[in-house]
Amino acid sequence: MIDESMVLDGNAAAGALEALFAFDVTTAIVHCGHCRVSGPLAELRFYGSPRAMVLRCKTCGEVNVRLLETDRTINLDLSGAVRIEVRRPT
Ligand SMILES: [Zn+2]
Repeated sequence: MIDESMVLDGNAAAGALEALFAFDVTTAIVHCGHCRVSGPLAELRFYGSPRAMVLRCKTCGEVNVRLLETDRTINLDLSGAVRIEVRRPT
């Protein structure tokens, strides 16, 4: 049983996530949730506009990433990708 008084909120992840999202996103490796092929985000196929986009796998054509930006929010849907991999600079 989890002692809820000991559970931290999402702020505890800020340091690790800050490092994760401070990079050139086009270099992130996207693992397609449909055909399992992986490659840089820059190689996905872009459809739409900068504020309403779909990125599709270059191999199978399935949607890996959806983004919808409004005046108040940015919604990012990565459900079409099994995993996003960010490699540390060497
Ligand atoms: Zn695919």
